[in-house]
Amino acid sequence: MKILFNRDMLRHNQNGRVEGPRRIAKLAELPDVDDCVPSVDGEKLLALAHRTDYIERIKELCRKNQHIAEVNTSIHTYNSAVLAVGLSVDAAINGDFAAVRPPGHHASSDREGGFCFFNNMAIAAIHLSNQGKRVLVIDIDGHHGNGTQCIIEARAAHPDGAGEIMFASIDGEFGWPHILIRPGITRINGRTCSINLLVPAGAGDDMLMDSVNLVMQASKEFRPDVIGISFGTDGHRDDNLGLKYTEHGFYGLGRALHRSGKKTFAVLEGGYHSLVVECIDAFIAGIEGRNPPYEVPGTISQQRLWDRFNDITREVKGVLLDNNHGMHQEMETEDIIL
Ligand SMILES: [Zn+2]
Repeated sequence: MKILFNRDMLRHNQNGRVEGPRRIAKLAELPDVDDCVPSVDGEKLLALAHRTDYIERIKELCRKNQHIAEVNTSIHTYNSAVLAVGLSVDAAINGDFAAVRPPGHHASSDREGGFCFFNNMAIAAIHLSNQGKRVLVIDIDGHHGNGTQCIIEARAAHPDGAGEIMFASIDGEFGWPHILIRPGITRINGRTCSINLLVPAGAGDDMLMDSVNLVMQASKEFRPDVIGISFGTDGHRDDNLGLKYTEHGFYGLGRALHRSGKKTFAVLEGGYHSLVVECIDAFIAGIEGRNPPYEVPGTISQQRLWDRFNDITREVKGVLLDNNHGMHQEMETEDIIL
């Protein structure tokens, strides 16, 4: 799994204290990471997920250096966003990791938000779907991938649209955007289209893995050809969401995907601490079946958090796993790496 990066993306929101270039600037120093030029023109693919009037509006606002989606924009913002889309589509095609900014998962077809303008993952998944692939998108960012869910559900519900994308988001309870976060399942045209799982504040690597395993089991009937990971790292214990994931948890996620045998790609979403690149590195090591690159012990959630997790996700788990099917029994312990 190659890291797809281009230092031009560091020119967007250069003084941003939260979603700023420092998040992934380390990549520019790594000898094995080059500036990648997308094989596709991202601008021509924006309409896969966005209204044309919205695309024009974002371009114009960037030209005028407006403050939107909580960041200062410029023409570099628009160019970076288009580059991010192109690299995300390349990642989807080739099974690579698009280490891009601005992120995309809060952008819906006609609305920016949460540092996001164009939905990199939704566009990449739709591109694959248009080629006949069945795509499972798992969003592990600590925030809900509300934009991605909106776009995928609208596509599934459209009478002419293919619906071969399934979406799952694993979010921190009480995170932004508050009103949209509900544990639940959306079924469209007779099949599960999206799943939303919540983990309580303090959740460790074990709960992230449990959630991912649940999604993987729930997607068996869907039979995905490709898995796309919306790779947000703001669940890391060094970030401010109150979750306790570590590099080892992201490594474990990679290992679980490696064992699934499914073609996998990833697109960077949030994550504002100083170890974003290490999290990417650990995830890729897992995907490639290598040993963990960092000596970081996995974090274990307290029992009271498991009680809370089971409580808030009981209904979703019951539906997904046909109630008494025995989720913990089905989950092989080798899938939970600590
Ligand atoms: Zn986030």
